Amino acid sequence: MIHQLEKLPYAYDALEPYISKETLEYHHDKHHAGYVNNLNNLIKDSESYRAMQLEEVIKNSENAIFNNAAQTYNHNFYWHCLSPKKSTPSASFQTALEHQFGSLETFKELFTNAALGLFGSGWTWLVMDHNKNLSLTNTSNADTPIVQGDTPLLVCDVWEHAYYIDTRNARAAYLENFWHIVNWQFVSQRFDS
Ligand code: MN
Repeated sequence: MIHQLEKLPYAYDALEPYISKETLEYHHDKHHAGYVNNLNNLIKDSESYRAMQLEEVIKNSENAIFNNAAQTYNHNFYWHCLSPKKSTPSASFQTALEHQFGSLETFKELFTNAALGLFGSGWTWLVMDHNKNLSLTNTSNADTPIVQGDTPLLVCDVWEHAYYIDTRNARAAYLENFWHIVNWQFVSQRFDS
């Protein structure tokens, strides 16, 4: 298959003032698009890779093909974790968060600390295992928890390209903004389904 750059699920300026239109233009149209284009170029002569869905490519590749496939997937997922519409966790998901982390506020603190502590480029995730147990995990560079069979619920892109236009080097300010635009409805649906 030819992999397509998924459209943003909202307008480029929809997340302002927390993420600017300029950031989304660069992040989606340059960075994310670059990964999709690289992936298509890398697999264009491989019949077996061209027959695979994106998640299969990720689970059966390494190096450049893995990096570009995983970055394509991670960005698709990241865009859906954000929304201009305010929402709250579902009752069942809220209960699971409280069971694992104590409270929603503590969860946010732990997630934020994980993101701030990630050295270099990568992603901070809330994932669930087959028994619906929640955990936090950081992945480096393009790495993605679907390789281990975990189900991602929420992700924050902690590559500098996600925030340097808006908050320069201040990852903490980006994280503060992030919590204003988390799509709890999407995250809860992933948990509840
Ligand atoms: Mn990114």
